[in-house]
Amino acid sequence: MWLDPLPDQRAARSRVAEGQAMLNSMAQFDLTESLVRGHLRDMSGQVRCAICLARELFLLPGAIMPILATLAERQPPFATGPCGCGGAGLMFLLR
Ligand SMILES: [Zn+2]
Repeated sequence: MWLDPLPDQRAARSRVAEGQAMLNSMAQFDLTESLVRGHLRDMSGQVRCAICLARELFLLPGAIMPILATLAERQPPFATGPCGCGGAGLMFLLR
């Protein structure tokens, strides 16, 4: 009996593509996270919100918000506080 192998191959290829897209977005998250962490460490003791970080790092606030949330949960060395602009932000605690 002859079975057409193409649909399976196509499904496998699309699964691979999905996996790669997920890896790419995870790598992107890691890269942005290390930028944000480094930036906050450079200005230890100063609170920065997602909007101000986005402006200073030339990134989109939407990319920074989930990272701030992640870092806030992982505190210390990060602590939440009010940003100079009035928004809720995060700072690197001085030790
Ligand atoms: Zn701000």
